[in-house]
Amino acid sequence: MVLDGHADLLYDVVRRAAAGETEILTRRHLPRLRAGSVEGLVLAIWAAPEVGETYAENTARMLAAAQTEFAASPWLKVVRTAAEAEQAKEEKQIYAFLSVEGMAAIGGDLAGIDRYAELGARFGTLTWNEENLLATGAGGDPDRPLTAQGRQAVCWMQKLGMMVDVSHLNDRGFRDVIGLAERPVLASHSNCRALCDVPRNLTDDQLRAIRDTGGVVGVNSFHRFVHGDPQQQTVEMLARHACHMAEVMGVEHVVCGFDFCGYFGPGNESVQGLEDCSQSANFFHWLERFGMTAQERELVARGNLLRLLR
Ligand SMILES: [Zn+2]
Repeated sequence: MVLDGHADLLYDVVRRAAAGETEILTRRHLPRLRAGSVEGLVLAIWAAPEVGETYAENTARMLAAAQTEFAASPWLKVVRTAAEAEQAKEEKQIYAFLSVEGMAAIGGDLAGIDRYAELGARFGTLTWNEENLLATGAGGDPDRPLTAQGRQAVCWMQKLGMMVDVSHLNDRGFRDVIGLAERPVLASHSNCRALCDVPRNLTDDQLRAIRDTGGVVGVNSFHRFVHGDPQQQTVEMLARHACHMAEVMGVEHVVCGFDFCGYFGPGNESVQGLEDCSQSANFFHWLERFGMTAQERELVARGNLLRLLR
């Protein structure tokens, strides 16, 4: 059974709801989730404003569409703690934690973080790939530090019990967050630069810095974060990323953040052999071939992330 620490289903929901579709999660996603033995998800609240729309308006629209979908999906239970997740699992429901992917919607107003916390978001990134009032994403200047509000945001999140997610953050921001860390810091969906040198992935030093906070790193199936050579954008190579993380940090710090986006069309593909969540077993099969024990695979599949979400 798998807990996927980064899923973009709500973006599919908001786009299709705008086109008049209903029961999007049940029709489009439930069959794949069941086929892949997905017991739980972390659903990201991500803003991608349409022309003429603000980040805040787009986020409000996503949350409204999400509420409608949750009400129409009796098989899905939105949870806030690992205990609630286990309870939902016992009742044969798929559980969903919430996270925030980019806080551009709050501007520089920290009260916006309170609203995310009230919704139940357990962790969040300060940016997506953009530069905003808090921080700079991996698509921007690698040397721009967190802003004063960004530093306050990190402290406030930790106070509220919301973990800071450094996936998407630039290198300088990463260092700033680690310097402010009083609780575990995670990278919910990032791979290893040692195997695929792109700004969205992490150096070995960054992996160790996350480990030292007690945090975790989630392997990401997006093809361009797995290998530069298209021939090697495979589930086997993704498993190599997981093994490298385990070697550098210890297996207790490796989780799944598969970031499946193939359902958004060309350019968004996951690796060969792990094209969507229905093929999750292939990933664990490769971990087994690379020598991970059943107990270690269980930690990667669900145990490590649930430990942090107690
Ligand atoms: Zn992302």
